[in-house]
Amino acid sequence: MEELILNSGTKAPMIAATKYIEPIYKDGMGMSPDPHAWMDPLSSVQYIKVIKESLIAKFPEYSDEIITKHNAYKAELFALHDMISIWMDSIPKEDRVLITSHDAFSYFGRRYDVKVLPLLGTSTEADIESSSVKKLINYIKENRVKAIFSETTINPKVLQQIAKATGASLGLPLYADSIGDEGSPGNSYINMMKYNARSIFDGLLGKIAPNDFYPQSFGDEENGSFAFIMLGVIFIGLFFGVILKLQ
Ligand SMILES: [Zn+2]
Repeated sequence: MEELILNSGTKAPMIAATKYIEPIYKDGMGMSPDPHAWMDPLSSVQYIKVIKESLIAKFPEYSDEIITKHNAYKAELFALHDMISIWMDSIPKEDRVLITSHDAFSYFGRRYDVKVLPLLGTSTEADIESSSVKKLINYIKENRVKAIFSETTINPKVLQQIAKATGASLGLPLYADSIGDEGSPGNSYINMMKYNARSIFDGLLGKIAPNDFYPQSFGDEENGSFAFIMLGVIFIGLFFGVILKLQ
């Protein structure tokens, strides 16, 4: 990520928005942390704390406004967290299993006590191994998992096949590496998180009948660190909105 920023030629200071987040490290990734921290709304509370502090350091004359905006958004994030907690807590513990295309939900799972079983690792670039597919099919059958979840930016074909082979339904596709387009149900960070949690809630409680609702197109597969940068850009954009309004 640093390389990408350096290559952009920017002279702006580089600040790690993840400073206060306890990373999750994955096998086979060496010391690289799982980049999907934004799937936990309380991680986002930590992102905006860093952004607030950095903006106040740069624009001390706008401290009051920055703090007001920050506190308002923080309250929205806590309300979001409360809502997701209620939904996840109402799923029986043994049914709280999230099967997705790639490993983007570990922070979500850590926060809401949901077991996460992705088909792929944290990067979407690897090939799907048939042994992973078999393992998942067995797990779904043995544990009577009610729903599995494709993702908006990954071809859902293999998950469709797994759903067919096991009788599990396919929940509405989740946003994992990117928010949705304008007009989509995931058109902001908060809307995206609500939509994801609602899809998981409905799916794992067996409220979604097998369906054929899939996005007509999906984006190019991209790697996790790019997603991580995008998170920073989203939050920074949010707070730059603050500054632009102030000036
Ligand atoms: Zn990802």
